[in-house]
Amino acid sequence: MPQAVTHFIFSLVLFTVVWSCLHKKDAKIPLAYVLLAGLAGLLPDMDYALFWIMYTLGYLSDVNLVHRIFTHSLVFPLAFGLIAFVLMRVRLTIKHRQINAGAVLAIVAFGSLIHIALDAALSGYIRPLYPFSFVEIGTGLLDGIEPELRQQLMATFDGLIFVLWITYLALTKSIQRLI
Ligand SMILES: [Zn+2]
Repeated sequence: MPQAVTHFIFSLVLFTVVWSCLHKKDAKIPLAYVLLAGLAGLLPDMDYALFWIMYTLGYLSDVNLVHRIFTHSLVFPLAFGLIAFVLMRVRLTIKHRQINAGAVLAIVAFGSLIHIALDAALSGYIRPLYPFSFVEIGTGLLDGIEPELRQQLMATFDGLIFVLWITYLALTKSIQRLI
C-alpha cells in the first residue's frame, strides 16, 4: 500500500492543480487549504487508529477486519461531499478569519477520494461500493511481488516522493513560506 508521505503529497499537489485550474492566475491559494488537502489524503487510513485501539483493548487481532473497509469505500468521500454541498453557504469565524465550512468538507472529500484511488491504483484492492457491495477493484500492479518486498518498494517510493517534493519546494523557494 502507498505510505503516508505519498498520500499526503499526492493529495496536496493534485488539490493545488485543481484549485489553480478553477481560479484566476493571480489568485493566492490559502495555505490552510493546501495543508488540509494533504491531511485529508491521509484520512482513510485512520482506520489503522481504530485497529490499534481495538487491538489494545483486546477486541481485534486482524487489521484486515477494519482496514480498507468503510473508509476506503466511495461512500466515505461521497458523504463528506454531500455535507459540503449542504454547508456551502455556511461561514465560520476562527481567529478573526472567515472559513467556508462547505469548502473545508469538500477538500476532505477530495483528499479522501485521491487516497482511495491511489490505493486501488498502486497496491491492493478496495471495495468501492461497500457496504452495498463487496466487489473489490484494484490494478493488482504489484501482485507479483512478495508482500515484504512490496512494503520495501512502497517505503522507497515514499522516500523518493518526499525528496522530490522537498527539492521542488527548495528550488521554487516555496519552502521559505513553510518555515
Ligand atoms: Zn489506504
